[in-house]
Amino acid sequence: MKALCYNGKYDLRVERVPDPEILNPRDAIIKVSKTAVCGSDLHLINGYIPTMKEGDIIGHEFMGEVVETGKGVTNLKKGDRVSVAATISCGHCNYCSTGSYSLCDNSNPNAFMPEKIMGDSPAAIFGYTHSFGGYAGGHAEYVRVPFADVGMFKVDERLTDEQAVFLGDAFPTGFMGADMAGIQPGDTVAVWGCGGVGQMAIQSAFLLGAERVIAIDREPSRLETARRVGRAETLDFSKVDVLEALREMTGGRGPDRCIDCVGLEAVDDSAQYYYDKAKQFLGLEIDRAIVLRQAIMACRKGGTVSILGVYAGFVDSVPMGAAMNKGLTFKMGQLHAQKYIPRLMEYVANGQADTSFLATHSLSLEEGMKGYDMFNKRTDDVMRVVFTP
Ligand SMILES: [Zn+2]
Ligand SMILES: [Zn+2]
Repeated sequence: MKALCYNGKYDLRVERVPDPEILNPRDAIIKVSKTAVCGSDLHLINGYIPTMKEGDIIGHEFMGEVVETGKGVTNLKKGDRVSVAATISCGHCNYCSTGSYSLCDNSNPNAFMPEKIMGDSPAAIFGYTHSFGGYAGGHAEYVRVPFADVGMFKVDERLTDEQAVFLGDAFPTGFMGADMAGIQPGDTVAVWGCGGVGQMAIQSAFLLGAERVIAIDREPSRLETARRVGRAETLDFSKVDVLEALREMTGGRGPDRCIDCVGLEAVDDSAQYYYDKAKQFLGLEIDRAIVLRQAIMACRKGGTVSILGVYAGFVDSVPMGAAMNKGLTFKMGQLHAQKYIPRLMEYVANGQADTSFLATHSLSLEEGMKGYDMFNKRTDDVMRVVFTP
Protein backbone atom coordinates (compact mmCIF):
# COMPACT_ATOMS: atom_id res chain seq x y z
CA MET A 1 0.00 0.00 0.00
CA LYS A 2 0.95 3.66 -0.22
CA ALA A 3 1.78 5.59 2.95
CA LEU A 4 3.17 9.00 3.85
CA CYS A 5 6.43 8.31 5.67
CA TYR A 6 8.73 10.43 7.80
CA ASN A 7 12.27 10.50 6.43
CA GLY A 8 13.89 13.05 8.72
CA LYS A 9 13.21 16.63 9.69
CA TYR A 10 10.82 18.28 7.22
CA ASP A 11 11.04 15.34 4.83
CA LEU A 12 7.89 13.31 4.13
CA ARG A 13 7.59 10.95 1.19
CA VAL A 14 4.94 8.62 -0.14
CA GLU A 15 6.36 5.12 -0.12
CA ARG A 16 5.22 1.58 -0.85
CA VAL A 17 5.04 -0.34 2.41
CA PRO A 18 3.58 -3.76 3.36
CA ASP A 19 -0.17 -3.83 4.05
CA PRO A 20 -1.02 -3.99 7.75
CA GLU A 21 -2.30 -7.30 9.14
CA ILE A 22 -4.38 -8.35 12.11
CA LEU A 23 -1.91 -9.17 14.90
CA ASN A 24 -4.22 -9.45 17.89
CA PRO A 25 -7.85 -10.53 18.33
CA ARG A 26 -8.95 -6.97 19.17
CA ASP A 27 -7.38 -5.45 16.02
CA ALA A 28 -9.22 -4.19 12.98
CA ILE A 29 -7.94 -3.06 9.61
CA ILE A 30 -9.56 -0.04 8.06
CA LYS A 31 -9.32 1.39 4.58
CA VAL A 32 -8.67 5.08 5.16
CA SER A 33 -11.08 7.44 3.40
CA LYS A 34 -9.94 10.76 4.94
CA THR A 35 -6.97 11.68 7.10
CA ALA A 36 -6.10 15.14 8.39
CA VAL A 37 -2.97 17.02 9.43
CA CYS A 38 -2.68 18.17 13.03
CA GLY A 39 -0.61 20.86 14.71
CA SER A 40 1.05 18.27 16.88
CA ASP A 41 2.36 16.53 13.72
CA LEU A 42 4.24 19.74 13.00
CA HIS A 43 6.19 19.27 16.23
CA LEU A 44 7.37 15.91 14.83
CA ILE A 45 8.16 17.21 11.37
CA ASN A 46 9.95 20.26 12.76
CA GLY A 47 12.10 17.96 14.89
CA TYR A 48 10.96 18.96 18.39
CA ILE A 49 9.82 15.55 19.57
CA PRO A 50 12.41 12.76 19.63
CA THR A 51 12.19 9.03 18.80
CA MET A 52 10.91 9.25 15.23
CA LYS A 53 12.55 6.79 12.83
CA GLU A 54 12.94 6.89 9.07
CA GLY A 55 10.02 5.17 7.41
CA ASP A 56 7.52 5.85 10.21
CA ILE A 57 3.99 6.44 8.93
CA ILE A 58 2.56 9.56 10.59
CA GLY A 59 -1.02 10.79 11.02
CA HIS A 60 -3.35 10.33 13.99
CA GLU A 61 -6.59 11.83 12.68
CA PHE A 62 -8.33 9.53 10.22
CA MET A 63 -11.49 7.65 9.40
CA GLY A 64 -12.42 4.92 6.99
CA GLU A 65 -14.20 1.67 6.29
CA VAL A 66 -13.64 -1.53 8.24
CA VAL A 67 -12.21 -4.22 5.95
CA GLU A 68 -11.26 -6.87 8.51
CA THR A 69 -11.75 -7.48 12.22
CA GLY A 70 -10.08 -9.80 14.71
CA LYS A 71 -12.13 -12.36 16.62
CA GLY A 72 -12.34 -10.09 19.66
CA VAL A 73 -14.08 -7.25 17.82
CA THR A 74 -17.78 -7.98 17.93
CA ASN A 75 -19.35 -4.50 18.08
CA LEU A 76 -18.26 -3.47 14.56
CA LYS A 77 -18.06 -5.31 11.30
CA LYS A 78 -16.70 -5.25 7.78
CA GLY A 79 -18.18 -2.38 5.78
CA ASP A 80 -18.85 -0.10 8.76
CA ARG A 81 -17.84 3.55 8.31
CA VAL A 82 -15.84 4.46 11.38
CA SER A 83 -14.09 7.35 13.04
CA VAL A 84 -10.98 6.35 14.97
CA ALA A 85 -9.74 7.78 18.27
CA ALA A 86 -6.22 9.25 17.94
CA THR A 87 -5.19 7.70 21.25
CA ILE A 88 -4.80 3.92 21.52
CA SER A 89 -6.32 2.59 24.74
CA CYS A 90 -7.15 -0.86 26.09
CA GLY A 91 -10.50 0.10 27.60
CA HIS A 92 -10.03 -2.11 30.65
CA CYS A 93 -7.17 -0.83 32.82
CA ASN A 94 -7.82 1.37 35.81
CA TYR A 95 -7.24 4.56 33.80
CA CYS A 96 -9.40 3.54 30.84
CA SER A 97 -12.24 2.40 33.06
CA THR A 98 -12.38 5.83 34.68
CA GLY A 99 -12.39 7.64 31.34
CA SER A 100 -8.72 8.65 31.32
CA TYR A 101 -8.01 6.87 28.06
CA SER A 102 -4.84 8.80 27.21
CA LEU A 103 -3.28 7.47 30.41
CA CYS A 104 -3.87 3.82 29.44
CA ASP A 105 -1.39 1.47 31.07
CA ASN A 106 -1.53 -1.22 28.40
CA SER A 107 -1.23 0.30 24.94
CA ASN A 108 2.36 1.49 24.83
CA PRO A 109 4.83 -1.34 24.18
CA ASN A 110 7.67 1.19 24.49
CA ALA A 111 6.59 2.45 27.92
CA PHE A 112 10.21 2.28 29.11
CA MET A 113 11.08 5.20 26.80
CA PRO A 114 8.77 7.88 28.27
CA GLU A 115 9.26 6.39 31.74
CA LYS A 116 12.91 7.42 31.55
CA ILE A 117 12.01 11.08 31.01
CA MET A 118 8.56 11.43 32.56
CA GLY A 119 8.53 8.73 35.21
CA ASP A 120 5.45 7.15 33.64
CA SER A 121 4.13 6.35 30.22
CA PRO A 122 1.02 7.83 28.61
CA ALA A 123 -1.13 5.81 26.20
CA ALA A 124 0.11 5.21 22.69
CA ILE A 125 -0.93 7.54 19.87
CA PHE A 126 -1.15 6.57 16.18
CA GLY A 127 1.91 7.65 14.16
CA TYR A 128 3.38 9.67 16.96
CA THR A 129 6.97 8.56 17.73
CA HIS A 130 8.33 5.37 19.23
CA SER A 131 8.00 6.84 22.73
CA PHE A 132 4.25 6.87 22.10
CA GLY A 133 4.17 3.25 20.95
CA GLY A 134 5.66 3.25 17.45
CA TYR A 135 2.29 2.42 15.83
CA ALA A 136 1.82 3.16 12.14
CA GLY A 137 -0.40 6.20 11.59
CA GLY A 138 -3.33 6.98 9.37
CA HIS A 139 -1.69 8.80 6.44
CA ALA A 140 -1.89 5.58 4.46
CA GLU A 141 -4.31 3.50 2.40
CA TYR A 142 -4.84 1.06 5.27
CA VAL A 143 -4.17 1.12 8.99
CA ARG A 144 -4.27 -1.42 11.80
CA VAL A 145 -6.40 -0.22 14.71
CA PRO A 146 -5.44 -1.97 17.97
CA PHE A 147 -8.17 -2.29 20.66
CA ALA A 148 -10.58 -1.51 17.82
CA ASP A 149 -13.61 -2.47 19.93
CA VAL A 150 -13.02 0.64 22.09
CA GLY A 151 -11.14 2.92 19.64
CA MET A 152 -13.45 2.84 16.60
CA PHE A 153 -16.89 4.43 16.41
CA LYS A 154 -19.51 3.80 13.76
CA VAL A 155 -20.24 7.13 12.09
CA ASP A 156 -23.80 8.42 12.15
CA GLU A 157 -25.07 8.59 8.58
CA ARG A 158 -26.06 12.23 9.03
CA LEU A 159 -22.34 13.13 9.12
CA THR A 160 -20.22 13.74 6.03
CA ASP A 161 -16.65 12.41 5.90
CA GLU A 162 -15.38 15.99 6.22
CA GLN A 163 -17.25 16.28 9.51
CA ALA A 164 -16.51 12.80 10.83
CA VAL A 165 -12.74 12.83 10.29
CA PHE A 166 -12.35 15.49 13.00
CA LEU A 167 -14.06 13.35 15.63
CA GLY A 168 -10.79 11.48 16.15
CA ASP A 169 -8.77 14.38 17.49
CA ALA A 170 -9.58 18.04 16.75
CA PHE A 171 -13.08 18.07 18.24
CA PRO A 172 -12.47 15.82 21.28
CA THR A 173 -9.23 17.65 22.06
CA GLY A 174 -10.89 21.06 21.88
CA PHE A 175 -13.87 19.79 23.84
CA MET A 176 -11.66 18.28 26.52
CA GLY A 177 -9.92 21.65 26.91
CA ALA A 178 -13.24 23.30 27.63
CA ASP A 179 -14.36 20.41 29.83
CA MET A 180 -11.14 20.52 31.89
CA ALA A 181 -11.53 24.27 32.29
CA GLY A 182 -14.57 23.64 34.48
CA ILE A 183 -16.67 26.29 32.76
CA GLN A 184 -19.57 27.63 34.80
CA PRO A 185 -22.60 29.33 33.24
CA GLY A 186 -21.78 32.96 32.57
CA ASP A 187 -18.00 32.48 32.45
CA THR A 188 -15.66 34.37 30.17
CA VAL A 189 -13.22 31.99 28.52
CA ALA A 190 -10.00 32.97 26.74
CA VAL A 191 -8.66 30.61 24.08
CA TRP A 192 -5.09 30.95 22.79
CA GLY A 193 -4.61 29.56 19.28
CA CYS A 194 -7.32 29.45 16.60
CA GLY A 195 -6.20 26.38 14.67
CA GLY A 196 -8.45 23.32 14.45
CA VAL A 197 -8.30 22.48 18.15
CA GLY A 198 -8.73 26.11 19.21
CA GLN A 199 -11.78 26.54 16.97
CA MET A 200 -13.36 23.45 18.50
CA ALA A 201 -12.46 24.63 22.01
CA ILE A 202 -14.36 27.86 21.26
CA GLN A 203 -17.50 26.00 20.14
CA SER A 204 -17.17 23.64 23.10
CA ALA A 205 -16.86 26.48 25.62
CA PHE A 206 -20.24 27.80 24.47
CA LEU A 207 -21.73 24.28 24.51
CA LEU A 208 -20.65 24.02 28.14
CA GLY A 209 -22.23 27.32 29.17
CA ALA A 210 -19.67 30.08 28.60
CA GLU A 211 -21.18 33.51 28.10
CA ARG A 212 -18.22 35.00 26.27
CA VAL A 213 -15.23 33.51 24.48
CA ILE A 214 -12.22 35.63 23.60
CA ALA A 215 -9.99 34.01 20.97
CA ILE A 216 -6.35 34.99 20.48
CA ASP A 217 -4.26 34.47 17.33
CA ARG A 218 -2.58 36.60 14.66
CA GLU A 219 -3.78 34.95 11.46
CA PRO A 220 -6.58 37.15 10.10
CA SER A 221 -8.42 34.23 8.50
CA ARG A 222 -8.35 32.16 11.70
CA LEU A 223 -9.60 35.12 13.74
CA GLU A 224 -12.33 35.68 11.19
CA THR A 225 -13.38 32.01 11.45
CA ALA A 226 -13.40 32.29 15.25
CA ARG A 227 -15.81 35.21 14.95
CA ARG A 228 -17.97 33.83 12.16
CA VAL A 229 -18.23 30.14 13.09
CA GLY A 230 -17.36 30.29 16.78
CA ARG A 231 -19.14 33.56 17.71
CA ALA A 232 -16.00 34.55 19.65
CA GLU A 233 -14.63 38.02 20.26
CA THR A 234 -11.06 38.12 18.97
CA LEU A 235 -7.66 39.59 19.78
CA ASP A 236 -4.79 39.83 17.30
CA PHE A 237 -1.68 39.40 19.45
CA SER A 238 0.50 41.03 16.81
CA LYS A 239 -1.51 44.23 17.22
CA VAL A 240 -2.45 44.48 20.89
CA ASP A 241 -0.95 43.76 24.28
CA VAL A 242 -2.93 40.61 25.11
CA LEU A 243 -2.74 40.98 28.89
CA GLU A 244 -3.89 44.59 28.82
CA ALA A 245 -6.65 43.85 26.33
CA LEU A 246 -7.98 40.88 28.32
CA ARG A 247 -8.02 42.99 31.51
CA GLU A 248 -9.90 45.73 29.76
CA MET A 249 -12.44 43.36 28.20
CA THR A 250 -13.21 41.72 31.55
CA GLY A 251 -13.64 44.80 33.73
CA GLY A 252 -10.12 44.54 35.16
CA ARG A 253 -10.67 41.02 36.44
CA GLY A 254 -9.26 38.65 33.84
CA PRO A 255 -10.94 35.69 32.10
CA ASP A 256 -12.38 32.99 34.38
CA ARG A 257 -10.96 30.15 32.30
CA CYS A 258 -7.89 30.18 30.05
CA ILE A 259 -7.27 27.48 27.46
CA ASP A 260 -3.84 27.02 25.86
CA CYS A 261 -4.31 25.45 22.42
CA VAL A 262 -0.81 26.38 21.27
CA GLY A 263 1.88 24.54 23.23
CA LEU A 264 5.56 24.29 22.59
CA GLU A 265 6.00 26.15 19.29
CA ALA A 266 4.44 29.43 20.37
CA VAL A 267 5.60 32.52 18.46
CA ASP A 268 5.36 36.26 18.91
CA ASP A 269 7.61 39.28 18.64
CA SER A 270 8.40 39.64 22.31
CA ALA A 271 11.80 39.50 23.99
CA GLN A 272 10.59 36.28 25.64
CA TYR A 273 10.22 34.62 22.26
CA TYR A 274 13.83 35.37 21.33
CA TYR A 275 14.94 34.24 24.79
CA ASP A 276 13.13 30.93 24.28
CA LYS A 277 14.49 30.51 20.75
CA ALA A 278 18.05 31.07 21.98
CA LYS A 279 17.66 28.59 24.82
CA GLN A 280 16.10 26.03 22.47
CA PHE A 281 19.00 26.49 20.06
CA LEU A 282 21.50 25.88 22.85
CA GLY A 283 19.59 22.82 24.01
CA LEU A 284 18.83 24.42 27.39
CA GLU A 285 15.06 24.36 26.94
CA ILE A 286 12.69 22.24 24.86
CA ASP A 287 9.40 24.15 24.90
CA ARG A 288 8.55 27.78 24.22
CA ALA A 289 6.00 28.47 26.94
CA ILE A 290 4.92 31.94 25.80
CA VAL A 291 1.22 31.13 25.89
CA LEU A 292 1.37 29.27 29.19
CA ARG A 293 3.04 32.26 30.85
CA GLN A 294 0.44 34.61 29.37
CA ALA A 295 -2.47 32.41 30.42
CA ILE A 296 -1.23 32.33 34.02
CA MET A 297 -0.79 36.09 34.12
CA ALA A 298 -4.15 36.76 32.44
CA CYS A 299 -6.36 34.35 34.40
CA ARG A 300 -8.51 35.81 37.13
CA LYS A 301 -7.79 34.84 40.74
CA GLY A 302 -9.13 31.38 41.47
CA GLY A 303 -9.57 30.63 37.77
CA THR A 304 -8.50 27.63 35.72
CA VAL A 305 -5.72 27.23 33.17
CA SER A 306 -6.46 24.31 30.85
CA ILE A 307 -3.57 23.09 28.68
CA LEU A 308 -4.13 21.19 25.45
CA GLY A 309 -1.25 22.50 23.39
CA VAL A 310 1.47 19.87 23.44
CA TYR A 311 4.50 20.33 25.69
CA ALA A 312 7.32 17.85 25.27
CA GLY A 313 9.91 18.57 27.91
CA PHE A 314 11.14 21.44 30.00
CA VAL A 315 9.80 24.97 30.12
CA ASP A 316 11.48 28.01 31.52
CA SER A 317 10.40 31.14 33.36
CA VAL A 318 6.89 29.95 34.16
CA PRO A 319 5.45 32.36 36.75
CA MET A 320 4.61 29.77 39.40
CA GLY A 321 4.54 32.52 42.03
CA ALA A 322 1.63 34.15 40.23
CA ALA A 323 -0.12 30.81 39.72
CA MET A 324 0.24 29.86 43.37
CA ASN A 325 -0.71 33.18 44.88
CA LYS A 326 -3.65 33.66 42.53
CA GLY A 327 -4.95 30.23 43.54
CA LEU A 328 -5.13 28.93 39.98
CA THR A 329 -6.14 25.42 39.04
CA PHE A 330 -4.10 23.72 36.30
CA LYS A 331 -5.64 20.95 34.23
CA MET A 332 -3.92 19.38 31.24
CA GLY A 333 -3.43 16.26 29.22
CA GLN A 334 -3.58 14.41 25.94
CA LEU A 335 -7.10 13.79 24.76
CA HIS A 336 -9.33 11.08 26.14
CA ALA A 337 -10.89 10.68 22.71
CA GLN A 338 -12.86 7.50 23.42
CA LYS A 339 -14.65 9.22 26.31
CA TYR A 340 -15.96 12.08 24.19
CA ILE A 341 -16.52 10.78 20.64
CA PRO A 342 -20.11 9.44 21.00
CA ARG A 343 -21.33 12.67 22.64
CA LEU A 344 -19.55 14.87 20.08
CA MET A 345 -20.84 12.83 17.15
CA GLU A 346 -24.35 13.56 18.41
CA TYR A 347 -23.58 17.30 18.67
CA VAL A 348 -22.46 17.34 15.02
CA ALA A 349 -25.35 15.15 13.85
CA ASN A 350 -27.99 17.37 15.47
CA GLY A 351 -26.34 20.60 14.32
CA GLN A 352 -25.22 21.91 17.72
CA ALA A 353 -21.59 21.87 16.57
CA ASP A 354 -19.80 21.79 13.25
CA THR A 355 -16.41 20.51 12.18
CA SER A 356 -16.60 20.59 8.38
CA PHE A 357 -15.26 24.17 8.15
CA LEU A 358 -11.88 22.89 9.41
CA ALA A 359 -11.26 21.04 6.12
CA THR A 360 -10.06 24.02 4.09
CA HIS A 361 -7.84 22.03 1.71
CA SER A 362 -8.28 18.61 0.17
CA LEU A 363 -5.18 16.93 -1.29
CA SER A 364 -3.95 13.49 -2.30
CA LEU A 365 -1.49 11.55 -0.16
CA GLU A 366 1.20 12.19 -2.80
CA GLU A 367 0.85 15.89 -1.99
CA GLY A 368 1.57 15.16 1.69
CA MET A 369 4.74 17.20 2.05
CA LYS A 370 3.13 20.08 0.18
CA GLY A 371 0.12 19.91 2.50
CA TYR A 372 2.25 19.98 5.63
CA ASP A 373 4.39 22.79 4.23
CA MET A 374 1.27 24.92 3.62
CA PHE A 375 -0.02 24.04 7.05
CA ASN A 376 3.31 24.87 8.70
CA LYS A 377 3.61 28.21 6.89
CA ARG A 378 -0.12 28.98 7.23
CA THR A 379 -0.36 29.77 3.52
CA ASP A 380 -3.62 30.17 1.61
CA ASP A 381 -5.60 30.61 4.85
CA VAL A 382 -5.21 26.91 5.59
CA MET A 383 -6.96 25.56 8.68
CA ARG A 384 -6.50 21.83 8.16
CA VAL A 385 -5.46 19.84 5.11
CA VAL A 386 -7.37 16.61 4.55
CA PHE A 387 -5.77 13.86 2.47
CA THR A 388 -7.70 11.27 0.48
CA PRO A 389 -5.43 8.20 0.16
ZN1 LIG B 1 -3.55 15.92 17.00
ZN1 LIG C 1 -6.17 1.06 29.35
